[in-house]
Amino acid sequence: MVDLRAQYDKMGSEIDYAIKSVLLSTAFIKGPDVKLFEEELQEYMHVKNVVSCANGTDALQLAITILGLKPGDEVITTNFTFIATIEVVALLGLKPVIVDPEPGTFNISVEAVRKAITPKTKAIVPVHLFGQCADMESIMELAEKHGLFVIEDAAQATGADYIFKNGTTKKAGTIGHIGTTSFFPSKNLGCYGDGGAIYTNDEAFAGKIRSIANHGMKIRYHYDDVGVNSRLDTIQAAILRVKLKHLSEFNRARREVADSYDKAFARCSSLAVPERASYSSHIFHQYTIKIKDGRRDELKKFLDSKKIPSMVYYPGPLHMQNAYAYLGYKEGDFPVTTSLCKEVLSLPMHPDMEKEQIDYIALNVLEFFKK
Ligand SMILES: *Cc1c(COP(=O)(O)O)cnc(C)c1O
Repeated sequence: MVDLRAQYDKMGSEIDYAIKSVLLSTAFIKGPDVKLFEEELQEYMHVKNVVSCANGTDALQLAITILGLKPGDEVITTNFTFIATIEVVALLGLKPVIVDPEPGTFNISVEAVRKAITPKTKAIVPVHLFGQCADMESIMELAEKHGLFVIEDAAQATGADYIFKNGTTKKAGTIGHIGTTSFFPSKNLGCYGDGGAIYTNDEAFAGKIRSIANHGMKIRYHYDDVGVNSRLDTIQAAILRVKLKHLSEFNRARREVADSYDKAFARCSSLAVPERASYSSHIFHQYTIKIKDGRRDELKKFLDSKKIPSMVYYPGPLHMQNAYAYLGYKEGDFPVTTSLCKEVLSLPMHPDMEKEQIDYIALNVLEFFKK
């Protein structure tokens, strides 16, 4: 699905040098590269504060922790996402309220959010799924009207641009009150282990998050908050500094792969190519097609037999997972999520795909539907 080796081969000497420098400096925790990476990412994202942390799940948890919510307060998010998004809400003693996505963009349905708002709702967590922004302008309007926080889960959209109605743009993760991301190796900006970050233009939020991520400590051995240990390793920061320089080029290459797939599938009515929203650039963390007529699993098997990897993101709706049975949702509550889980298939997608690889994959997908 991704080719991290090809990427390493292209930048190997730069990466090796970055790692070696950290080894020689022995500044493994909070070394200079961490601060430099945060500053460089701030500049790239046009955001006032980047606070790095240990992973994308921690980033979400830190962001929601500082909102001062009370047990039972409701946080609305999408049913069609990675589990981390609702897990942190549940862990903090808050109530995850899940809603269906839009069937076309896979992103949270603003209409569904509107209907789910109650007097207990305190925050909305839109996820910019597969590399494309949710409809943030509508979400922010709704949030403002009801006095809600908006925490963007931008783990899959590092570098995507949201396009406002007036034509201005902002980076995914910098539109709401706080944005979060992950540097898991396969993400658009990935390190060689775990890593994550929080974006915010609010100085007070940034200070609080920075403190809590480091044991609740602003001044050494003085603890103002109950904190956790969630830091980005210096070695990972050094690797990310090298990769950040190439991020725009990686995202452009992904878009070109998607364009080639789109073109190849243009006349195939048995599948739907990913919808591109007018209000967002798409950086194709995943290239996800939809297959009607219940043939998705059959296609996946066919591709397996041709040694073409493909993945189902996500195979099961979150509301049917055992861990969340206590929320009391029923099987038929989320028709859009339920049908997406049966229809979606993500094809190989990474910046180093060769034309022959794309052609081979597309040809075999088309071949399957001729049968
Ligand atoms: C990857 C991901 C996360 C979690 O990131 P980790 O770094 O693996 O903890 C959260 N949300 C979404 C949507 C993700 O894709």
